[in-house]
Amino acid sequence: MRIVLLGAPGAGKGTQAARISERYGIPHISTGDILREAVKQGTQLGRRAESYMSRGELVPDEVVIGIVAERLRQPDCAKGFLLDGFPRTVAQAKALDKALAETGCHLDAVVNLEIDDAEVVRRLSSRRVCGSCGAIASPAGTSEPCASCGGELITRSDDRPEAVRRRLQVYKEQTEPLVEYYSKAGILCRELAVGTVDEVFDRVSQTLDR
Ligand code: AMP
Repeated sequence: MRIVLLGAPGAGKGTQAARISERYGIPHISTGDILREAVKQGTQLGRRAESYMSRGELVPDEVVIGIVAERLRQPDCAKGFLLDGFPRTVAQAKALDKALAETGCHLDAVVNLEIDDAEVVRRLSSRRVCGSCGAIASPAGTSEPCASCGGELITRSDDRPEAVRRRLQVYKEQTEPLVEYYSKAGILCRELAVGTVDEVFDRVSQTLDR
């Protein structure tokens, strides 16, 4: 199954993606995670991406498209994948369609996790993530060490209020048009991202099972 997970920052893409990937046995590919790892390692890519990310801006299309194209060529993607945080622009969506068409395949579903702006701000301003493994702390705001690896919990630099406002604006301008793009393609599944993580996951998996 080839799936894209869409949604505003804070809609719960990372949390749901981890579960969907486990349930369907497909790799979870998060461009945000790949870029954060590059920043942490101080690679050339990381140095280039960092300034965009900390301001809440998108990393240029050609950079991200190259990363994803390379990742999709890995053998573990042969039977499917779950993209989280990609595509984020119409140019990225078109590049993805082209890359898939070249290998004779196509997306099966695009799940849009829907959430309102006030909830985005509320969730992100209290969100804490593990500084070591990147896991999202649950419940938000806890000061315990990371439940997965025992690492220290931190606030992501792009979860600061000014970066959150910019990310929301960027989402509306550049990513929201994808809702129409995939709706026209007939593969959009709209899911309300409210309720507990389990409730959202149950709805998403029922949709994907269909
Ligand atoms: P995320 O973890 O998906 O919220 O991504 C964190 C940040 O990484 C974003 O705010 C962007 O700066 C950058 N990023 C992640 N995915 C993309 C993408 N597909 N296109 C451009 N920038 C991206």
